[in-house]
Amino acid sequence: MTEKNLSQKNDFIREIIRGDIAANLHEKIVTRFPPEPNGYLHIGHAKSICLNFGVAQEFQGLCNLRFDDTNPTKEDQIYIDAIKFDLTWLGFNFENNIRYTSDYFEQLYDWAIELINKGLAYVDDLSPDEMRSYRGTLTEPGIESPSRNREIAENLDLFERMKNGEFEEGKMSLRAKIDMQSGNLNLRDPVIYRIMHANHPRTNNNWCIYPMYDFGHGQSDAIENVTHSLCTLEFEDHRPLYEWFLENLSIPSKPKQYEFSRLNLSHTILSKRRLLKLIECGYVTGWNDPRMPTLAGLRRRGVPPEAIRDFVGRLGVTKSDGIVEMSYFENTVREHLNVTAQRRMAVLNPLKIVIENYPEDPQFKDELEATNNPNNEDDGFRRLLFSREIYIEHNDFMENPTKKFFRLGPGREVRLRYAYLIICKEVIKDKKGNIIELRCHYDPASRGGNSPDGRKVKGTLHWVSANHSKKATINLYNELFTEAIPGSNGDWIEDVNKTSLESLTNCFLEPSILDFKSNTTIQFERLGYFCADLNSTQENPIFNRTVPLRDTWAKKT
Ligand code: ATP
Ligand code: MG
Repeated sequence: MTEKNLSQKNDFIREIIRGDIAANLHEKIVTRFPPEPNGYLHIGHAKSICLNFGVAQEFQGLCNLRFDDTNPTKEDQIYIDAIKFDLTWLGFNFENNIRYTSDYFEQLYDWAIELINKGLAYVDDLSPDEMRSYRGTLTEPGIESPSRNREIAENLDLFERMKNGEFEEGKMSLRAKIDMQSGNLNLRDPVIYRIMHANHPRTNNNWCIYPMYDFGHGQSDAIENVTHSLCTLEFEDHRPLYEWFLENLSIPSKPKQYEFSRLNLSHTILSKRRLLKLIECGYVTGWNDPRMPTLAGLRRRGVPPEAIRDFVGRLGVTKSDGIVEMSYFENTVREHLNVTAQRRMAVLNPLKIVIENYPEDPQFKDELEATNNPNNEDDGFRRLLFSREIYIEHNDFMENPTKKFFRLGPGREVRLRYAYLIICKEVIKDKKGNIIELRCHYDPASRGGNSPDGRKVKGTLHWVSANHSKKATINLYNELFTEAIPGSNGDWIEDVNKTSLESLTNCFLEPSILDFKSNTTIQFERLGYFCADLNSTQENPIFNRTVPLRDTWAKKT
């Protein structure tokens, strides 16, 4: 890990851990990151990952990657593989510390039997709908199920028959016998095992009953000797249940659950279920679509893992819920790339310029020198080929310049970055009156872009040589949702931004841009940060815009 101040990080979780260490409560700090393999990791998960793995590192402890694989109808090996890949990419090492809740199915089953034997669990044949209506509400107590007082022997028999596949899904379930009057709905005889006739990615058809999250989680923590089970605030109301199981089962280790607020980011959604819906509805092309807030999407968009770690680190860990502006995230990304990214030139909306007084001989070779990264001398220089025909950005020219427009116009002089001063002599239009070409003159004495006699030239434009540049497609990404909080005024899916992708197919790149692989983000001068898409080839280059150069959000809201 390269972040500075690792040892100085401070938040209420780290305070608790320091206190526990001082009180000699644990030999070793053990945490876990417990994704359900039912989708790809998103930036919200990154917050949990950096906390769990970060704490383990800082306190010389251990963090397990535990796949919480208790719902085979939603889970898939594809997700397990993707999660491992993304974690490694984010910079965390889990090597031999991979666990699966399914590793503990036998043990969890034995614990369920222990509860039945203690008269603390019963098999219920209420349908899921009936169970819901019996549960009551926050203002009304629940009603006890007619099955609640079944004999232990009958419960044992029925539970075994559930396990043996004698019943259909939804016909029976195993419930903890706690308190139907409890003010905490989670304690109103929660279901702890349900029937699911589904093939599990790891245990295949060995089981047709699966533990519920609440029954699996704390016990898995205990098995792994987790000391601090860190989860998001929505589990706060589950903590009494987490503790109830640990108290009522013969388990020596007693992990403790602590809750922190989840990351919410504006103009996107951080929920695997909803992200999957975006894919299924065709609003994005997949989990790694560059518009997705998934780690795979951010990677493909060109966001470096260091920027993600830095971003979540800056947010800190608290108990207060809030929404972080997407612009804050993008600023962090920009800060990183500003230091690390090499600079190149590309033109997105080309306007051709013919420099009339420039040598016409195609053999004439004019090589200029350009700085690769003003923030890192080690990146050195490159050679740029100039020629009689170049492209500039269409919007860098105005036929009737407005007051604050200092770029090219008829009779005006501008600097071409690293090259020459040019002056516009003539504007060529097509029949419809569209500007299609400019005729310019250059000043050979201004080579390198210097004004030879000290005359003032305000505008500096980026450009590419028409003869040497490579044609490419460039994808610009706008916010995925038009609303800061999708769904705040109705159905969240209605707020999908239908113009979140702008694909420009007539862009021109300085040739050396094609040397960069998709894992390296570069700056296109004056435009923003970009990286090669996964599907980019030498023949058909495709680049994704990571972020524009400046914060464009202020204008939007
Ligand atoms: P989702 O709602 O996206 O499905 P989840 O909480 O169901 O998220 P899990 O795979 O169960 O996803 O999450 C693994 C861990 O990541 C959990 O400990 C969870 O609390 C944490 N986590 C998930 N989303 C966030 C978030 N937005 N911010 C911080 N932590 C999160
Ligand atoms: Mg979940």
